[in-house]
Amino acid sequence: MSLTTAQAIASLLNDDDRAALHAIFGDRVRFDEPLAAYTSWKIGGPADAFATVESEAELAALMRHCFARALPWFVLGSGSNVLVGDGGMRGIVLRLGGAFAEIAARVDGDRVIVEAGASAGMAALTAKAASLGAIGIGSLAGIPGTVGGSLRMNAGTDREMGDFVHEVWVQSPLKPDPHPVTVQYYYRHTSLARDAVVARVTLAFERGDPKHVREEMQARLVRRKSTQPIALPNAGSCFRNPEGDKAARLIESVGAKGWRVGGAEVSPLHANFINNVGGATAADVASLLARVRRAVHDRCGVDLQLEVHLIGVFIDQAHTRDDEEK
Ligand SMILES: Cc1cc2nc3c(=O)[nH]c(=O)nc-3n(C[C@H](O)[C@H](O)[C@H](O)COP(=O)(O)OP(=O)(O)OC[C@H]3O[C@@H](n4cnc5c(N)ncnc54)[C@H](O)[C@@H]3O)c2cc1C
Repeated sequence: MSLTTAQAIASLLNDDDRAALHAIFGDRVRFDEPLAAYTSWKIGGPADAFATVESEAELAALMRHCFARALPWFVLGSGSNVLVGDGGMRGIVLRLGGAFAEIAARVDGDRVIVEAGASAGMAALTAKAASLGAIGIGSLAGIPGTVGGSLRMNAGTDREMGDFVHEVWVQSPLKPDPHPVTVQYYYRHTSLARDAVVARVTLAFERGDPKHVREEMQARLVRRKSTQPIALPNAGSCFRNPEGDKAARLIESVGAKGWRVGGAEVSPLHANFINNVGGATAADVASLLARVRRAVHDRCGVDLQLEVHLIGVFIDQAHTRDDEEK
């Protein structure tokens, strides 16, 4: 059975849900809140409810409500790896803040230990860790996400989050109180259960010379600036690198740099990035992703896999040829 567009975009919340969310979050819950402002692509329709969760107790209360009412929910970090559909998201979108943003870093013998809440920014975490000489932290520098999102994605470059994780604490509808879990790490994904919200993480690094570590990190940040369109709204690399190759190389080889659908453009600087160059919709980006994928499949025989997560309700994906050729 397929849903009509009207059904797909109708709020799932009733008055009791709204009252319960108000009781937990007060002013920190908004209804029918457009999500574009909370994503790095600046794209996305409204969430039935958007709540900023400031403590583990609030998260537990929310998880219990979602479980009791069988309501869908989604945890958003800084929205730098998601494409939210133009029809928005049903249920509750939550973003962590408050106590979840805390970071504490210390030297422990020949190691640097960093304890971070899931909403702490990777920029703050890498700066703190580098100042204590955390070896390898440069590989996580310049990733514009939160600790929770980066853990879920196993974000990184030559080295990844999982290489440094010591402990992960999560909360979920079935086990709302914070508890530690064991996670397996793979290329840009993990074994973390879909219904687990990362609450906090402990990372451990070997300790080196802070000056050397800071200089190496700075050099990587400079290189990133010259090779990635970091000033434009995008979500970083759209496709995962296939085994033994680079998605950007394949996309460039089919001549896709500069291809446009509506306000979405394949970056002329980095072929695996799609920029919102003005008023792009999720349908524009999805259509451009499909066009790039088709071209790489047809001309290179490689099936590119998405790295970005497509979430929510996608509507109106039909585009004319004229749009695509712009
Ligand atoms: C300019 C640019 C450069 C980038 N460079 C890199 C790079 O070098 N390497 C790299 O790996 N990535 C890169 N990215 C992609 C992105 O920054 C990372 O994937 C980042 O780790 C995502 O974090 P986030 O907080 O934005 O997560 P979001 O995009 O908000 O969410 C991503 C996924 O994580 C889940 N999630 C978020 N928070 C939690 C939580 N607390 N608990 C459980 N699940 C959670 C979400 O539900 C979603 O499924 C880049 C993006 C941009 C825009």
